[in-house]
Amino acid sequence: MGTVERCKAVVIGSGAGGAPVASRLAEAWGDGVVLLEAGPNLQASDFNQIEREMIPKLYAQRGMQATEDGSVAVLQASCVGGTTVVNDALCLRPPPELEERWRALGAEVSLKALAPYVEQVEQELGVEQVPRAMTNRANYLVGLGAARLGWKGERMHHNAPGCPECGLRHLGCSYDAKRSMNVSYVPRAVRAGARLKSMTKAERLVPRGDGWRVECGDLVLEADHVVVAAGVVQTPMLLLRSGIHAGEGFQMHLQTLAWGDFAEPVDGFNGIPMVYSVLEFSDVYGHTGPGFMIEGVSTQPLAFSTQPQGQGEVHAEVLRRYRHLAGAMMVLRASTRGTIALGPEGRPRIDYPLQPHDIERVLPFYQRAVEMFLAAGASRVLLPHREANFVTRPPADLRIGPGWTYFYTAHPFGGACRGGPTVDGVGQVRGQRNLWVLDASAFPEAPGVNPQTIICSLALEGAERLLAAAA
Ligand SMILES: Cc1cc2nc3c(=O)[nH]c(=O)nc-3n(C[C@H](O)[C@H](O)[C@H](O)COP(=O)(O)OP(=O)(O)OC[C@H]3O[C@@H](n4cnc5c(N)ncnc54)[C@H](O)[C@@H]3O)c2cc1C
Repeated sequence: MGTVERCKAVVIGSGAGGAPVASRLAEAWGDGVVLLEAGPNLQASDFNQIEREMIPKLYAQRGMQATEDGSVAVLQASCVGGTTVVNDALCLRPPPELEERWRALGAEVSLKALAPYVEQVEQELGVEQVPRAMTNRANYLVGLGAARLGWKGERMHHNAPGCPECGLRHLGCSYDAKRSMNVSYVPRAVRAGARLKSMTKAERLVPRGDGWRVECGDLVLEADHVVVAAGVVQTPMLLLRSGIHAGEGFQMHLQTLAWGDFAEPVDGFNGIPMVYSVLEFSDVYGHTGPGFMIEGVSTQPLAFSTQPQGQGEVHAEVLRRYRHLAGAMMVLRASTRGTIALGPEGRPRIDYPLQPHDIERVLPFYQRAVEMFLAAGASRVLLPHREANFVTRPPADLRIGPGWTYFYTAHPFGGACRGGPTVDGVGQVRGQRNLWVLDASAFPEAPGVNPQTIICSLALEGAERLLAAAA
């Protein structure tokens, strides 16, 4: 017989959704709040900046998580602070278009009502525009190419004031400069009394009167309220293990890359990885493009080595040119909807049949990226494509799709979408009492911009709703 602990609320997952919720609930209920985290509680000194050690330690499935057919890598982290520990620290405000789109899908969202939470989040996370002087050469070249072509873009905002520019945000911040959840909302929750339990995975939820038993191996928590914020793959998995319908509406920002090859070294692994964003082709913030942003991106050696597709001499040439490459990333608001299901041995099965409407918009990204880098002075552009590697003009035609080009996502969404079959318009699980979903899995649709500010703000608003319902 294991240990049984009583509490007022359990928050499952300590990432962008769970940490702000735990912090707000702990302000009201102190040590009546338990914050569960399946991953380890790592400190700045644990982030040793070595890719081959930190990626397996920090990322879900040791960095190998992917859709069932292997066509899209799905990047998430598992540790105190969740994926914010490895993210690029970009903080974009909810685009105005989100309200109408999400409402049409049944989500109750008002950007006016959300605005004070966005402000709170920006203050807590120390959000500022990345200073011009901190723009590394790779991002400068993205901005230069875009400006020469007359495309709209800007330096983005980040939550890493005083960043020492080591370039290794994906491996956890060794300086505590990035105000990810592990150094912001999680400590804030703990200061307010929340009991943080790392390396503790919620296995199953069992109804108990109006509340819940949260089974975590030898530990059982008996709680009046449960908030699930275990991230896009694991939130639906926990609900499914608990016999609750979930897993529909899995979506993403589909991502791929292109690299300009410049005569002078760019050393794209140095400095802040992502600074400049081209908004011209997006369909948010008043733009009416095909729906992708182009963002400057770093070229860390291990991550980079998995991306270009060439073999033999092409591969050797890629390595020879490594220091001369400046990266750009597509962030496509994809409309494909997939599912998350319980797979063999309880593993997640992520099915994502990429639809023509999304595939068709990838070639325009490659074309624009090539134009942009050539305008910035590159002699050619490297694409992560099986047949087209180094190109000297925008490709007129390319076979795009699984197996032909490298795809990944750092921004998965859905699986327990607001207004869908699992949760209602504000995140309460349908047909259950005192059970909420307040993370990216409740997004009814990809927002079109880097999502952490939106996730944190909606989580704070959801915590307020929970407290009001409990009063
Ligand atoms: C490389 C990378 C770069 C990114 N850069 C940016 C960026 O610059 N800007 C931006 O806005 N977004 C960025 N993102 C995305 C952003 O960080 C995520 O969208 C966000 O963190 C998701 O929040 P979440 O709360 O839904 O899940 P997560 O932050 O993933 O948190 C979920 C947590 O729940 C834990 N958990 C899972 N199952 C259980 C369980 N059963 N019991 C207990 N705990 C559990 C997990 O271990 C995890 O720690 C990036 C993502 C990646 C991968």
